[in-house]
Amino acid sequence: MSKYTDWGMIHGEGEIVCECDNCGNEERIEFDEGYPDYKEAQKELRSMGWVSRKIDGEWNDFCCPDCANEYYQKHRKQRGY
Ligand SMILES: [Zn+2]
Ligand SMILES: [Zn+2]
Repeated sequence: MSKYTDWGMIHGEGEIVCECDNCGNEERIEFDEGYPDYKEAQKELRSMGWVSRKIDGEWNDFCCPDCANEYYQKHRKQRGY
């Protein structure tokens, strides 16, 4: 899962950074309540068209369903089936 917290200069503020596992596209969700709310960020990302897919037991984030499919196809080719 390509999500991490980018803490801001002010204590308790920052951004949750989400990176597309296929194309590297980046989306930042700001927070200022003292801690990053990943559940809320996930909801917001979904409303922007992002999707999560479990591939080989690992969660991946994608900026759109096309990226998810592309990544899945590439991954499948690598594995040879
Ligand atoms: Zn993408
Ligand atoms: Zn995309």
